[in-house]
Formats: sequence, C-alpha cells, structure tokens
Amino acid sequence: MSTRKILLEEEEIPKQWYNIQPDLPKPLPPPLDPKTRAPPAPEVLEAVFAKELVRQEVSQERWIKIPEEVREIYRIWRPTPLYRALGLEKALKTPAKIYYKYEGVSPPGSHKSNTSVAQAYFNMKEGIECITTETGAGQWGSALAFACKMFGIKSRIYMVKVSYQQKPYRRVLMENWGAEVFASPSNNTEFGRKVLAEDPNNTGSLGLAISEAMEDALSNNATKYALGSVLNHVLLHQTVVGQEALKQFEQIDEYPDIIFGCIGGGSSFSGLFWPFYYEKVAKKAPKNCEFVAVEPTACPSITKGKYMYDFPDVAASGPMLKMYTLGHTFIPPPIHAGGLRYHGKAPTLCLLHKEGKVGVKAYNQVEVFEAATMFTKTEGIIPAPEPSHAIKATIDEALKCKKTGEKKTILFLLCGHGHFDMQAFDDFHAGKLVPYEYPKEKVEEAMRQLKEMVPWANSVE
Ligand SMILES: *Cc1c(COP(=O)(O)O)cnc(C)c1O
Repeated sequence: MSTRKILLEEEEIPKQWYNIQPDLPKPLPPPLDPKTRAPPAPEVLEAVFAKELVRQEVSQERWIKIPEEVREIYRIWRPTPLYRALGLEKALKTPAKIYYKYEGVSPPGSHKSNTSVAQAYFNMKEGIECITTETGAGQWGSALAFACKMFGIKSRIYMVKVSYQQKPYRRVLMENWGAEVFASPSNNTEFGRKVLAEDPNNTGSLGLAISEAMEDALSNNATKYALGSVLNHVLLHQTVVGQEALKQFEQIDEYPDIIFGCIGGGSSFSGLFWPFYYEKVAKKAPKNCEFVAVEPTACPSITKGKYMYDFPDVAASGPMLKMYTLGHTFIPPPIHAGGLRYHGKAPTLCLLHKEGKVGVKAYNQVEVFEAATMFTKTEGIIPAPEPSHAIKATIDEALKCKKTGEKKTILFLLCGHGHFDMQAFDDFHAGKLVPYEYPKEKVEEAMRQLKEMVPWANSVE
C-alpha cells in the first residue's frame, strides 16, 4: 500500500530559517531611493519595520536562528503534512507521482502565519504595540491578526475595498483575533482621503492599501508596518515549509523532479523551493530538480511584465525594487485569486528567473477553477484559488507524463484552503468566470509612464 500522508514529529520543526542571499547566482540589486538613486539608509527602513527584520532583509548569513517562542507558536499547526495525491493520480491515469505540501492547516488557513508569527514576535521584542498592514483577499490580514494576538499586540488592517465587500467573513475572522479592519481606500489616512475625493467609487488595490498602512504606521507612536510577501525577510521565514518537505521526502526515500507553486509576491513558492535550491548549489541534491512558478494570465508580472526598477506601491512612496512588474499603476481585474493580484514579484525570485534558475507559466482563471474542482473531487480538500494555479500546472505535467511514459515525481504547494472562497466557486459553477488576459499594451503604457517619472528605472544593472 502506498503512503498517503507523510508526517513529522513536533521536534522536527526547523530550528533555523534558510536565507538564499549568499547563494544567489548574482548579488541582489538593492532597493533604491527614486531621488538619490542610492539604497535607503537603514534608519529609513527602521522607521517602518522592526530593526531585526531590517537586519534580516539585508543579511548575508545563510542560516538564521528561529527563536524558541516562535517555534512554540509554530507547534500549533507545524509540522504540516506532505500528501501523496493518490486520488488525483488515479483519475489522471498518470505514471507520475504527485505530492503536495499542505499549509491550509494553520489557524488562519494559509502559509502566511509562518512569517506573521515571526514578524509579530520581533516587533513585540522591540517594544512595538501595534502593527499595521494591508490585505487583499484577507489571508495576510488574518495571519497578522492571529500572530499579533499570540504575542499580545494590536493590529490595524487595511483591506482592499472590493474584498472587504466580497469577503465579509475574512473581516470577521480578523476581528475575532482582535484586529481593527478598514476598507481601503479609507478616510483614516491622508492618501485614502485624497483617493476618495477624486473617485468615491474606487474599489481599492493592494498597492493603495500598502500606502495607507505605511502612512498609518509612520504617523503613530510605537506602531510599525508589516508586509506579507515580496521582501527577503518574509520569504526566508517561509523556508520552514521546504525544510520540512525535504525531511518528509527523505523519510520515504523520494525526491521531486519538479516543484510548482503559485506566485502573488512569491513568498509561499520561495519558502518551498529555496531549501531544494540550496541542496542543488551545495551539490547535495540526488537529482536535478526543476522549479516552476505559476501566475494568472490576468496578472502576468513575469510572463508579460518588464524587469526593471519600480515602486512597490501606487503612491510611489516606498524605495524602488528591481523586479518583473506590470507597473505600480496596475489596476487588477477583479479575478477571484485575490492573493495573486500584485503588480510586481519578489526581487530574489525575479533575479532567479532572469538567470534561468526558475521557470514560469501562466493560466487563466477558468482552467484554474476546473483544476481546483478536479482536485476537490479526487483529493477531498478544497484548495484556495491561488494554489489552484499550481494544481493546474501539476495536472498538465502529469498528463504530459502520461503521453511520454515518464515517471516523474511532482511536488506542488497547497498553500491554503478555499473555505472562504465559496463565492468564487459558486460563480465558477454558474459559468460566470471569464478567462481574462491582461493586455500587453497596458503594460507598455505603464512602462512609458514609469520611465517618464524615473528616467533611469530601466537602465540600472
Ligand atoms: C498570499 C497568498 C498567496 C500569494 O502570495 P505569495 O507571497 O506569492 O505566497 C498565495 N496563496 C495564498 C493562499 C495566499 O494566502
């Protein structure tokens, strides 16, 4: 009989996070101040983020110790299971073996609590009393609300208005953990008031909510801001996922040939594949494992965007990051994978793609929901719309194996459950979803605007 679920003991929760920076094929292009064209001084970042997180952001240390207090909270849901998708394999009649690491078992239901717990802890240690943040689909907001409560600090969360209206239960979830939640654009900040004055019907975006949350943190005492993806320190906290997966594969004497993960900012996928990437560079990997990121055709940052310096937020306030971007003025179409609507991607992931270390694929939401439905009917678990992009890529790969007879071992990250996405599934069943593709012309227009604003954005190596 084949093993269906591979588990680890509590004491096998990793004791260190893995930082990819010393192992990148090239040095990471630093964040740059749009005016001075120099990296911002640490004090600028420390006004926004906890000091220890700024230290981790630029650290060249390969291994960073996980505080016992953080592991203590991790123990609520970690180690997470690695599943063999026997039901899906059978339905596809594929010779491939399919595995998935499941992060939906955390209290907020996704991988995001791996970093929110770490961030809340370091803020608490530095005497911070409140953390502000933005949330799109609500997963990051709920992860932060949960983590802040675990360490007895407050949270104030700016939720993209369209999600606030479409996903009221996510707001209630955050409120259960004691968070204050605002629909963004809000009247709480100067930037929000300005946007509302120009367009009272603005339904918000992630970039806009970031601007509001940062303004709130900067204008209040003992208040800092936290980000749920994109930045180095966030990605490295997620490596508990990949480190556990490595041990789980070791336990069954297996190793993946290919790893798929969806990308919004790139944190969940990086958390899974970085430890495998490290095995490769350290020449410890038993075989050549491929890494493939999956994004929506409605927000195709890597497949259609440009690799250049851009702002992380609509207000163009943050330091610029070198990344594949659709332009910070990107207004996402209202697709259901709310967590995958950010205009850029993590600079580390973008560099790895540029250097040919990580592949990329894009799918539209109709084919993604078809894949999600097939997964639910064969594996039982209801996936979030975001990781369903990775499910679609996995199914395609398994079908390719069926044609060629290859017995590949496929691993994908099921980074969250879809229990709060019933509206999306209902719309899919009713045939209301459209296979949206973001037009290339819109990207070019945004790039023209950016080059007018910051003439060197495209020219810095
Ligand atoms: C936030 C989120 C994403 C996208 O963010 P990444 O940083 O790319 O992981 C994807 N899936 C789920 C379930 C999320 O909560």
